[in-house]
Amino acid sequence: MLRNPYAWIEESLTTIHRADWYRSVQTIHGLPGATVLLEGQEVINFASNDYLGLAGDERMIAASTAAIQEFGTGSTGSRLLSGHRELHRDLEVAIASLKQTEDAVVFSSGYLANIGTITAVVGKRDLILSDQYNHSSLKNGAILSGATVIEYPHCDVTTLLTQLSQQRQNYRRCLIITDSVFSMDGDLCPLPTLLQLAEEFSCMLLIDEAHGTGVLGKTGAGCVEHFGCTGKQFIQMGTLSKALGSLGGYVAGSATLIDFLRNRAPSWIYTTALSPGDTAAALAAINIVQCEPQRRAQLWRNVNYLKDLLVQHRPNLQLLQSESPILCIQFPSAAEALKAGKHLRSAGIFAPAIRPPTVPTSRIRISVMTTHEGVHIQKLVDALNFESTGFAVQL
Ligand SMILES: *Cc1c(COP(=O)(O)O)cnc(C)c1O
Repeated sequence: MLRNPYAWIEESLTTIHRADWYRSVQTIHGLPGATVLLEGQEVINFASNDYLGLAGDERMIAASTAAIQEFGTGSTGSRLLSGHRELHRDLEVAIASLKQTEDAVVFSSGYLANIGTITAVVGKRDLILSDQYNHSSLKNGAILSGATVIEYPHCDVTTLLTQLSQQRQNYRRCLIITDSVFSMDGDLCPLPTLLQLAEEFSCMLLIDEAHGTGVLGKTGAGCVEHFGCTGKQFIQMGTLSKALGSLGGYVAGSATLIDFLRNRAPSWIYTTALSPGDTAAALAAINIVQCEPQRRAQLWRNVNYLKDLLVQHRPNLQLLQSESPILCIQFPSAAEALKAGKHLRSAGIFAPAIRPPTVPTSRIRISVMTTHEGVHIQKLVDALNFESTGFAVQL
């Protein structure tokens, strides 16, 4: 008898379950914010990328609603055919102004921005050097481009230098790709050294500011501003879906780069333009980021308050090094991290366990928001009392 060609799917799921790698969704009700209704229970939310608390902001909602009323719900086509609106251009001008670049282009998501940009700027004759901990969209963009991809150990510029010395001359173009804030770790890329190496070996550099934009830098422009690298020539991408509380992605850079992407990035050319509602919300968010630096200041006060409490009261936790609102606590196994997540959940805290294959080691990922109150952070630290519950926290 012939074997059912789909039988492997169930077997594969069983394996995923056995490794404690199985994932499923949980329903959130009501507006996003520092506290949310999760499957009917009110929880303090440390699971959101909405760092500035903008996704539920009434000004964003008003801007989005007004745009939908004026322009409708859908963009109806690709930007190059029938989908382009003045609103899209306004958003691109606002992004370029925030980033202090000549121009910017918006994509329908950050994932599409990375895939489209990487496949547009390199091909079979080229080399990509990629940080081992890069986001999935960078890794898959690299694979899709057909270039030779070499990973370097996380933030290891010495190995990167060796790889460049040995490999650079064998390829036409070279692209270095990196997260700015590593999304599942919370540390920063060594940007000044990466820029220096890129210059020395005539490489392009693409930096993914998904978790940097709105959060880092004096004006919220991101990690590039944080390191004083504004104005240098490279490819900056990011998302409208994290601190900016909307949906979509962007690339900012020189006018020629952006013009080239409009002609060569398949995930921009062959997909429907960003919806009017999302576009207007992102535009409103950039305005808020630029006009209300106090939101960013409060976010960092919250981050530092949490770090101080953890050092004082939870010295045994294995905290990963972080320079962002993302704080991770490591656990020896996926099962242990899941157990910790459930323990937090029963204490009214929403902070997910992140497991392989997303990350090499299992962890609880905490992301701090501007709108967290002192008492939210205290409750989190109270609930992180794994020692008393017999958890193994030492690696
Ligand atoms: C979330 C994320 C993306 C993808 O952005 P979306 O707009 O959600 O598709 C890309 N890179 C990094 C580092 C991210 O964290």
